[in-house]
Amino acid sequence: MSLAEKVRQAGVVGAGGGGFPTHVKLAAQADTVIANGAECEPLLHKDAAVMEHHAKELIRGMELAMEAVGAKDGVIGVKAKKKGAVAAVQAACEGSRVRVQLLGDYYPAGDEYDLVYTVTGRLIPPAGIPLNVGVVVCNVETLANVAAAQDGRPVTHKTITLAGAVNTPSTVTVPVGMSFREAIEATGGFATPDPVYMIGGLMMGQVSEDLDAPVTKTATGVVVLPRSHRIIERRLKPATVQNAIGKSACDQCRYCTEYCPRFLLGYQVEPHQVMRSLAFTETGKDFWNQWAALCCSCGLCTLYGCPEELYPKEACDQAKAEMREAGQKWTGPQEVKPHPMRDGRRVPIKTLARRLHVEDYEAPAPLRPEPLQAGRVTLPLKQHAGAPNEPLVKAGDRVEAGQPLGRVPEKALGAVVHAPFAGRVLGVNHSVILERI
Ligand code: SF4
Ligand code: SF4
Repeated sequence: MSLAEKVRQAGVVGAGGGGFPTHVKLAAQADTVIANGAECEPLLHKDAAVMEHHAKELIRGMELAMEAVGAKDGVIGVKAKKKGAVAAVQAACEGSRVRVQLLGDYYPAGDEYDLVYTVTGRLIPPAGIPLNVGVVVCNVETLANVAAAQDGRPVTHKTITLAGAVNTPSTVTVPVGMSFREAIEATGGFATPDPVYMIGGLMMGQVSEDLDAPVTKTATGVVVLPRSHRIIERRLKPATVQNAIGKSACDQCRYCTEYCPRFLLGYQVEPHQVMRSLAFTETGKDFWNQWAALCCSCGLCTLYGCPEELYPKEACDQAKAEMREAGQKWTGPQEVKPHPMRDGRRVPIKTLARRLHVEDYEAPAPLRPEPLQAGRVTLPLKQHAGAPNEPLVKAGDRVEAGQPLGRVPEKALGAVVHAPFAGRVLGVNHSVILERI
């Protein structure tokens, strides 16, 4: 059986937040595989922990992926400041075809366009993917999961960081489907009486008031903040309010654009132009939306660039959704030329953390050696890009550890969800609820 097929059966998806089914990438041809260990979200450290503690599995996954796609180069991108991770991967690389590339401590070094350019000097064509320039990019934990899949072990656990207003910032491995609340309580509890989550991080994560939200295969961690924190206040404002403020207060200063990493890399992303569309109704909509098409939703314009604390990233997200709905594709120029100020305008993570008012939450969050145990898990049937699983189980069924709980509809893109432990199915709706026996 091919590696891609084993990886498909094991339900491996992008573990850095992307959720794209990995078997599709492994069925392609490329000359370079990059392991993305850049991990730029302030306060999250799960990729560093994976590299430090599972370096051998990562290198093995890399070599398997390189063989599958026919690549001669394998590069692990890791920030130089993550010293434990760097030492571990450098040691594990010895005698292999994989090398380590040290990255600077700026945001967003892990953006695929940025990483591919930094590592290979190649610029992905506008609206393209790394494969267009002969590169496959996978998160470091994804590649460790590829090695497990080769041995027939499906994805049943996830490594995440619990950070922010928690008593013991930690990185933990948990069964997929365990609630964030249970994981936080098992490691020391909340350090605020009214917590709100930023699942996936402060910059690109999702705000959530549901403390029982389950850990999925794409979760990188959670930053807990008090409800009164500025970021939470801003993120909880409804889109209509965000738009109304933007409409009246944007003075077109362009700071959002001047700090945009995609703009600085040479792509036509200009959030200040997208902000202008808020002041129009239909006039200009098609045109202005194009300026958002290549935005990677890194959040830098909203949370760092804009001195008025407006929402250019959210305006871009809205514009991209409108474009998708209208079937509009990118029609701008194909030429890409990095901005001469790109290096000088990079945003260091320390400066970013200060701007976000989270410096007081900075903590090492070391990996706990043993995985946490859960008595009950909620496993969403869609935790990945593509179609949800069609359930293969019903309430009352008994399942074994590692058993598939659903299947991907025929000809659809997707990834199978597996049981993290032997248990009894309590219910099935958009998720499978499983209790340990
Ligand atoms: S930085 Fe803020 S005020 Fe300036 S153009 Fe962008 S959204 Fe408008
Ligand atoms: S979120 Fe803002 S800064 Fe980031 S790529 Fe999009 S427009 Fe640029």
